[in-house]
Amino acid sequence: MDQMQALFASVSNDGTTDAARVHARLSESGISSDDFRLQTTINRLAELGDRSIDLETFGALVGPELMMVKRALMRQLIIPDWVDFCCDIQTIYNNIAGDHSGANADYIPILRDADPEKWGVAICTVDGQRMAIGDVEIYHSIQSVSKPLTYAYALAREGAEYTHQFVGAEPSGRPFNALDLMPDMRPFNPCVNAGAIMTAGIVASGWPDKSARDITQEIMNLWSDLCGGLGSVHFSEETMLSERETAHNNFAIAYLLQGRKGLPRDVDLHKMLDLYLSCCSIEMTAKMLSVAAATLANGGVCPITGKEVLSTDVVKKTLSVMQAAGMYDNAGVFTLEVGLPAKSGVAGAVMVVVPNLMGFATFSPRLDPYGNSVRGVAFCRQLVDRFTFHVYDNLSGGHTGCKRDPRASQHQRKQRDLSDLSWAVSHGDRYATKVRDLMLACMIDITLADGDIEASELATMADTCAEIMGERPDPEDLRATAAARQHRSEALGTQGKTPFEELVAQLGEERSQLDDNGREIILEAAFRVACADGMIEAEEDLKLRALAEALGISTGVLELEIGRFQRQVASSRMAGS
Ligand code: GLU
Repeated sequence: MDQMQALFASVSNDGTTDAARVHARLSESGISSDDFRLQTTINRLAELGDRSIDLETFGALVGPELMMVKRALMRQLIIPDWVDFCCDIQTIYNNIAGDHSGANADYIPILRDADPEKWGVAICTVDGQRMAIGDVEIYHSIQSVSKPLTYAYALAREGAEYTHQFVGAEPSGRPFNALDLMPDMRPFNPCVNAGAIMTAGIVASGWPDKSARDITQEIMNLWSDLCGGLGSVHFSEETMLSERETAHNNFAIAYLLQGRKGLPRDVDLHKMLDLYLSCCSIEMTAKMLSVAAATLANGGVCPITGKEVLSTDVVKKTLSVMQAAGMYDNAGVFTLEVGLPAKSGVAGAVMVVVPNLMGFATFSPRLDPYGNSVRGVAFCRQLVDRFTFHVYDNLSGGHTGCKRDPRASQHQRKQRDLSDLSWAVSHGDRYATKVRDLMLACMIDITLADGDIEASELATMADTCAEIMGERPDPEDLRATAAARQHRSEALGTQGKTPFEELVAQLGEERSQLDDNGREIILEAAFRVACADGMIEAEEDLKLRALAEALGISTGVLELEIGRFQRQVASSRMAGS
């Protein structure tokens, strides 16, 4: 089959397709219908209406944007299982929605009066796959999220050497608005107020003929390019006026900077402060910020327009500063737990970069004592609990708790692992044999969870053995093995350990000899048996959790798997009804 035929086959049935189907497949890949890279195709599809599309029409239709269409339809984008990934994100979003802790910033009315219940998450990958849940279209002031980009702007216009004559790159460990400077009288970094005010001074000093407001417009243009023109970047006069009225501490910082080190090119102090406060008063949505973050994740090239907005070198420095100091004086703990460059602002936004993969932004106004959005931070934590996004999750030789890497297609990876294992078992490999034995024991114990040894469970066990060992045991032999184990368990009564407890202890002892794939296969086998009759009983659920814990697989990962299974059951019920 030639490539065009294969592409057509992926969206057609019996040699024809239609616009609705092509749209559906594109959206399943994460590509939105307003994606600039597919405008010709999308417009042509609209012209076709509901007419049927054959191979020839399809070829002409997608020709001009063939590469992009092919990547989307053939699951070649950076996150191939996009629909699954989105379901996982939805689960995490829902988990956090019930958290009402923290409080809005209250130093200016517009932030104090913002609806604290708002909660939104938006994601954009380096391939421009986009998703958004909840309150992602609400304009809010970006506040301190502006700081790293004003720094990037200074780097791009004035160069790193000049910029760093005036501002450092050290985490301060002090509150963001502290009047502290380094021993050489430079502010610690561009993410604390002193550093951001100085950065604004560097930028303002380079435009002697422009007003602070006009320079802000230049910076807003940078934001607009970063978010691929996804929405228009606003400016909030109300925020700016309140900021100016309450900026006593920022004035104190500005005078300190002027008195100690001197301002770049003797820039006017009021112009410098006005530029700083104006940058805080820029308004954007979580959706827009997610694309801006994705542009940073993509080394400065906007994924949805292909425009090089910032050089890779500038992005590298910007991300480094975000990583060291982006989350106020909780930046160190955030790096420890989340391990990603991020920046938060007091209006409730958090913008996070997963380098080479995606950017995301959350919006929820309630803040923790450090000034970070409570739900935003919780989302980051849960995300890295499930996915290998922490910068050090990829240390080789270690175990990640079987976190998922959405870059690889889970299905393809599992198939590959299973066939390797079956081949190795057949040659008597010790490691593979250990995996097989533990897997069998776990499957049998899950079968025994509800006391009965059901035929569907025996069949699933036999199928799983066939897949992993290359031979299908007789289900009746499995029944006999299971019954013997059940008998032992009953005979033990209250004395000593049950065979299941022994198994859990054994897994705990031996898990360090298993790699992530081995652990996953064992849990997956147990999981399959638990799901064999179409539902996971309470007792099975308990045992699965105990097995996962013994194997060092995080509860978050197990919960995602259970969620996936429940979705599968629900969709097969829908298909059957
Ligand atoms: N506009 C605030 C100030 O300068 C800072 C905002 C923030 O930290 O997000 O005090």
